[in-house]
Amino acid sequence: MKVAEALRAAADRLSATSDTARLDAEVLMAHALGCSRTDLLLRHMAAAVPDGFDALVERRTGHEPVAYITGTAEFYGIELAVSPAVLIPRGDTETLIEAAREAFAGEAPPERILDLGTGSGALLLAALSLWPDAEGIAIERSPEASAVAKANARRHAPSARILEGDWTQTDWAQGLGRFDLVLSNPPYVEEHANLDASVRQYEPASALFSGLDGLDDYRILVPQLPALLTARGIALVEIGWTQADAVTDIARGAGMSARVHCDLAGRKRAVEMAVSANISLGKGPADH
Ligand code: GLN
Repeated sequence: MKVAEALRAAADRLSATSDTARLDAEVLMAHALGCSRTDLLLRHMAAAVPDGFDALVERRTGHEPVAYITGTAEFYGIELAVSPAVLIPRGDTETLIEAAREAFAGEAPPERILDLGTGSGALLLAALSLWPDAEGIAIERSPEASAVAKANARRHAPSARILEGDWTQTDWAQGLGRFDLVLSNPPYVEEHANLDASVRQYEPASALFSGLDGLDDYRILVPQLPALLTARGIALVEIGWTQADAVTDIARGAGMSARVHCDLAGRKRAVEMAVSANISLGKGPADH
């Protein structure tokens, strides 16, 4: 069988369990061939099907995410290694990076950047791709995830430091100092949420769930942010799209101003917080 035919058959088979069946088939085929997807489409459609392809498709029919099968995912144009120890970086999370970019446009770049619960390292490494001279530090509770983040940092930002720490414990932030930019995609899913099988069965529960209403980590983390921010510093925290009011209230309760940013689908996806009344470095109203 030729690659083109095998792709059609695989896409057909995967359409029962995946909304992106054709794309999944192409990515898995490129992985089996050891080439890029572009190369596959331009040059390999008439090649013989590589041996391992069927086994990869088989794994995907069992809901295993493509990123775990290939071991890579892309975030903000950066290729990252991923394993089941880390959440697969999502396009929605790029909302935080875009919001940070806007906030610092025309201003002095952030000198120190902190990523809380970094997982694969996605947020920190994307931020350092924008501000390569900044000092970058990431905190991660899971040793297995830290190892993934460290490998990604070695490749994309060797001076970044990945530190093991847990913000639910006292003294985790001792000696960290203050930051111009704090980023975090904490766990925020409600314990009983109805998640896709590929998420619930394969992605790390510790990166997803945060108590009954999904707000436990915000309640612990957000009040600790003022002590981590410089006078001009901002924090950008990812939220579930129904959580904007709750997280904004937590931020205000901690003495910060807060504003909400939407993702490309128009859903509320991030809350920007600052200690000063003038959020976004003095640009725009503090609250909306
Ligand atoms: N966005 C993820 C999801 O919908 C959740 C990520 C998180 O909890 N930080 O599955």
